[in-house]
Amino acid sequence: MIKVGVLGAAGRMGSTVCEAVMNDDELELGARVGRDDPVDFLVESGVEVAVDFTTPGAVKDNVRFCLEHDIHAVVGTTGLTAVDLAEIESWAKASEANCLVAPNFAVGAVLMMQFAAKAVSYFDSAEIIERHHERKLDAPSGTALRTAELMNAARGADWVEPAEEKETLQGSRGGRSDGIHIHSVRAPGYVAHQEVVLGASGETLTIRHDSVDRVSFMPGVLVAVKRVADGPGLTVGLEHLLDL
Ligand code: NAP
Repeated sequence: MIKVGVLGAAGRMGSTVCEAVMNDDELELGARVGRDDPVDFLVESGVEVAVDFTTPGAVKDNVRFCLEHDIHAVVGTTGLTAVDLAEIESWAKASEANCLVAPNFAVGAVLMMQFAAKAVSYFDSAEIIERHHERKLDAPSGTALRTAELMNAARGADWVEPAEEKETLQGSRGGRSDGIHIHSVRAPGYVAHQEVVLGASGETLTIRHDSVDRVSFMPGVLVAVKRVADGPGLTVGLEHLLDL
């Protein structure tokens, strides 16, 4: 049995993770930590793996605490920058424990990112439209940023941009990640959704994924909890644990 602690346990994702851990024969829920609880509780309860679904402002301190106390960390909280990840990597190197960060634990979303990266050399332009519930704190989503990062790394060439373009309402063309435009929609009713739209002469390809329930993230979270000890150090992306 692996003893698991959940940071952000009272939240939408954290409470779903607690339930999934309790329903898994190989896992034991050792600690539920909320905003006002001392994080030391993880150590006192002998937790081996901590799962963080908190906020962009809280996650780094939590991960640092875990790694300093040799507790493996599985991180779903989004909003971490490349600089943050470099810091986490240095903490993981100095620790007996490892860290896995995944902007999206849904297997379908991981496949969407892989398919999009495979398509890049056949198209001229790419746009990402992501839709989330209205209480999401960060924009664009970590999934959109990761998708753009993987697509740009696979492309190795510039995207074709319109020769002349004038935004009459600032922001209409979204944010830009190396030539990929990202549009964030927020509305009650959504969970987590994304479309990648690739364009070429006379055709478009749309790759779409919808998480309509937070249970969609649980198989990925459970795999990460069981495999994070295999390490080494920092791993970014669930794709490294799946046989794709
Ligand atoms: P949420 O419902 O607001 O839950 C966050 C929880 O964290 C709240 O209960 C909050 O408590 C608590 N919290 C805040 N600071 C804390 C701290 N220092 N220590 C412990 N708990 C703390 O948000 P959510 O919808 O579950 O999303 C959480 C994160 O997961 C977001 O970053 C979201 O983007 C991300 N996410 C990732 C995936 C993925 O697959 N990787 C999927 C969905 C969501 P209070 O309410 O008292 O502030």
